[in-house]
Formats: sequence, structure tokens, C-alpha cells
Amino acid sequence: MRIRLLSIILLIGLIPNIVAANANKITKIVLDAGHGGKDAGAKGQFSLEKELTLAIVKRLGKMINDSMRGVQVIYTRTTDEYPLLPERHRIANESKGDVFISVHINSSAMKKHRELVGYKTVKKGKKKMKQPIYKVTYNNVTTATGTESYVLGLHRNSQKESAIGEYGETVAEEPGMLNENDPMTSIIIAQYAQAFLTRSVLLGTKIQQQFEWQGRSSRGVMQKGLEVLAGSAMPGVLVECGYINNPEEEVYMNSEQGQYEIALAIYKGIKAYKAEMENK
Ligand SMILES: [Zn+2]
Repeated sequence: MRIRLLSIILLIGLIPNIVAANANKITKIVLDAGHGGKDAGAKGQFSLEKELTLAIVKRLGKMINDSMRGVQVIYTRTTDEYPLLPERHRIANESKGDVFISVHINSSAMKKHRELVGYKTVKKGKKKMKQPIYKVTYNNVTTATGTESYVLGLHRNSQKESAIGEYGETVAEEPGMLNENDPMTSIIIAQYAQAFLTRSVLLGTKIQQQFEWQGRSSRGVMQKGLEVLAGSAMPGVLVECGYINNPEEEVYMNSEQGQYEIALAIYKGIKAYKAEMENK
């Protein structure tokens, strides 16, 4: 018993090295254009989220292919189609991606606006009463601006761990290391999930930094239990590139320059993350 405990303690001491030694090299980047096909995503006054995410992802993919040597780009979609989330995860995991980047466009909730437009007289028994008439309108235009990056929230961690377990062979790269019959496996998997979260925060921070340097307002890096990030056995970030229901940002995100700048910010963020990871 004591020997067993000691060996567990020793093994735990080794785990960070195992995690650090593996997958530090970034050679495969999975790009996920949010929504698509029947799922339009958020709607602006003249454009749809699914169109913008695809346009930005294609530019980003081209930048990586043209300028990041030795890095392969894997797309979850390249056309106006809608792969379900498990399908996106399968593409990411089977390609053995080192990083998962999901591109989305933000939208704020509609605001209900009630305006008094007049009165009507109604009969209640013998009494006549005046009742106000309201006109209800919904305003979907916002003044919210800027970009934000999401990393996986902790309450989705068990799903991440099961993805790592399922694709253990690709994550660990050492055959048999993540054996589900071995009690140590769950500890190792938890270590991977923790390491991936740390890396995801680093990547998100690098991307947001680039947006800031471009002069965009950065809403920072946040944690959220996002299904899209939970199913991939690799570090991942979801980038919200701006508000489609902010008229100025919608125009910007539809422009040549806007799409170029957004793709460039994500590209430079990945590049900085890659340099830091590979120099460890
Ligand atoms: Zn979205």
C-alpha cells in the first residue's frame, strides 16, 4: 500500500513533464467557422454571422498557409454548410490538431421598447374606462463594440476530459499511456485538461492583445462552458470578432480591410502563442 502510494506520488510529480514534453510544437491548426448552412447565427442589418465567420476563417487559413512554415490548416467547413458540433470535434480530433480556433460574431440581445401612442375607451359593466395603447418595438441595434475570446469554463471540464480520454492516443502520442483500465489515467487526463486550459488562456490573451494593438476595444478573455470547445482534445479558443448589430462594426466586418485586420490579429496571436509554446 505504501509502495503504491509512493509510486502514485512519484508519478504525479512526473505528469507535468509528460504534459510539457508533448505537443509543444504547433503543426496543425484547426479553424472552425461558426454556424453555416441552415444555421445563420446572428443577424445584422445586411449580413449574417455565418458568412462573416467563413470569410474571416478563409483569410486566416490563407495567412497561415502562406506565412507559417510547417503548419497545416484543417477547416471544419469551407462552404456554406452546417456541420454539427460532434462532427466539428471529430474533424479536429482525428486530424490531431494542436489548437482549435472557433470564429464567431457577437450580437447583443434585442431590447424591447414600449411607447404610449394613445388611449382607447373600453366598457366595463356600465362604466367607461380609458385604457392606454402601447406600441411595442424591438430594437436590435447596439452600441456595444469590440472583441472577446472565450476559453472553456470549468463546469464543462468533464466533457473535455472524456474527449481527451477518447482521443488519448493522439494526445499522449505514447501508445497505451492513456489506458482507461489504469487508475492513473484519470489523473493524467485531468492534468491534460488543466494544461490545455492554461494554454487556451495564453492563446486567448495573445489574440486579444493583437486586437488591442490594432485599436479595437478588447473585452478580454473569459471562461464559458461552451460545447464547441469542450469536445476537442486540444487547447482551444472561441473568438468573437465584433458586434453584427452594431451598425459601424457590421460595416467594418464586411469590409475588405476589416476582415483582413481581424484575420491578421488572430494570425499574429497564434504566432506569438506558437513562439512561446515552442520555446518552452
Ligand atoms: Zn456564433
